Amino acid sequence: MLSWLARKMAGDAPTAYITHPECVLHNMGSHHPESPDRLAAIQDRLISAGLWDHLLHVAAPLVTHEQLALVHPPRYVEALEQVSPQHGIVHVDPDTAMSPHTLQAAFRAAGAVVKATEMVLAGEAANAFCAVRPPGHHAESRRAMGFCFFNNLGVGVAHALSRGMERIAVADFDVHHGNGTEELFHDNPRVMMVSIFQSPFYPYCGEQPSGPNMHNVPLKAGSKGEDLRQAVEQQWLPALHAFQPQMLFISAGFDAHREDEMASLGLLEQDYAWVTEQLMAVADRYAEGRIVSVLEGGYDLSALGRSVAAHVKALARL
Ligand SMILES: [Zn+2]
Repeated sequence: MLSWLARKMAGDAPTAYITHPECVLHNMGSHHPESPDRLAAIQDRLISAGLWDHLLHVAAPLVTHEQLALVHPPRYVEALEQVSPQHGIVHVDPDTAMSPHTLQAAFRAAGAVVKATEMVLAGEAANAFCAVRPPGHHAESRRAMGFCFFNNLGVGVAHALSRGMERIAVADFDVHHGNGTEELFHDNPRVMMVSIFQSPFYPYCGEQPSGPNMHNVPLKAGSKGEDLRQAVEQQWLPALHAFQPQMLFISAGFDAHREDEMASLGLLEQDYAWVTEQLMAVADRYAEGRIVSVLEGGYDLSALGRSVAAHVKALARL
């Protein structure tokens, strides 16, 4: 295996790993499952798996208000800035709370995806994984919910559209339906979304897609890797091949893992590697390999670390 620099010199751009120390400072309380320890668990596993040194490490910039405004009205952003606490914790929904560092973390999380988009479009990275929190796929244009404030992936998709991309595909394999992403793009024919999610389950929607560009595949509790493979082969891949995306974004949540007690699906690390390889094959065929993957859920620290390692190993072709 070559270092990323040698691979870049050989014309084979690296996989970027984009995060920021401020993403760790967001804290919704010691018993909240969306904990700062998640990012350390991922980093530890990437190091112990021998993957860390093969990635191009990039510090996430702050998203700009102009970049956010492509999906979130300025009044929504201002409202979050106004309720952001100096001390303690402020709840914006029963599951979702702001601490004094939350907004800065959220600006880094969205900024990471914009940076990843820029790097992949410029060919500076073959693809990218954004190890960020707070997550984003439940955040609607005007509503924070489900641990999410800004729709990080949506900000990146909108940025890529503003840079001239005509067809962008979003794949979401988090155990929860990406209602926020669906709300942002259900009426945009330049974006197509494929997803699996446990249903019925939070956020209790998605069974009926809200647009012809939404390919939602609900899975019942207890579904396993073979059910994921059937959904991808029979529903995702035909839709992706028909759409021929110029770029792919992944809402990479790992809470459908068998060991994750947040939900009741039974995926394993090898299932995450397999679905990543399927999406890479689509990206290689139509999109010059361009993929931006963004961390969403995943709450069992060991399973999260192992699953991200499987996903990133596939992205980096290691
Ligand atoms: Zn989730």
